[in-house]
Amino acid sequence: MGRTFFVGGNWKMNGSKKEIKELVGAWKDADTDKNTEVVIGCPAIYLDLLSNELRSDWKVAAENVYKKKSGAYTGETSVDMAKDCGIEWAILGHSERRDIFGETDEEIAEKCAFALENGLKIIPCIGEHLEERENGTTMDVCAKQLEAMAAKIKDWTNVVVAYEPVWAIGTGKVATPQQAQDTHKDIRKWLEDNVSADVAASVRILYGGSVNPGNCAELAKCPDIDGFLVGGASLKPDFTTIINANK
Ligand code: PGA
Repeated sequence: MGRTFFVGGNWKMNGSKKEIKELVGAWKDADTDKNTEVVIGCPAIYLDLLSNELRSDWKVAAENVYKKKSGAYTGETSVDMAKDCGIEWAILGHSERRDIFGETDEEIAEKCAFALENGLKIIPCIGEHLEERENGTTMDVCAKQLEAMAAKIKDWTNVVVAYEPVWAIGTGKVATPQQAQDTHKDIRKWLEDNVSADVAASVRILYGGSVNPGNCAELAKCPDIDGFLVGGASLKPDFTTIINANK
């Protein structure tokens, strides 16, 4: 089976040329786990810079791409533009895209399918809000988000799912290893029942939400946690500790 451990960074709307150069410089020769796949998501305007500067064994992700080839879509970034800058990945459907920018399950699913069909690998994000966890509907929410994607994604080879409970994002309130493991297991079961046993066994499911160098090792031990999507802590030199969580 062997799902390669995966650690993604998500810088969101943070950073500057100077900060990127400093971070990338600090990571350049860091001794990180060769068995972990590393991908850093950065703002569109810095994709070219980051892909030129970042060590070549790590890859870069766009934080969003649009579902059309080109045209009158002011402010958007196309899949081809990302690829033109050497980008191989896109984070899609992050809860900030959903909650602040109003992206729907349907639209995110369309973006996922378009990006995949045009040669990007994707990290679609799913996850519940606090009140949904509290009223016991976590998996209903995740299933609805997955269902929209599964209706459009034909091949899951280049998909890495990020489970990010919204209440844990940027709050310092991390899910317990048990909470994360239980939901990851439910997501894998959903994939088995609704996509295929092969996809369920091979798709990596990342946990995201207040992962830091202090809590990553415990989470990494959970059998259904195949890595992390990291926001705040990916903007610091010791992000390498999280990359090494599975060592
Ligand atoms: P956080 O963000 O690690 O800062 O909580 C995670 C994310 O939004 O991907």
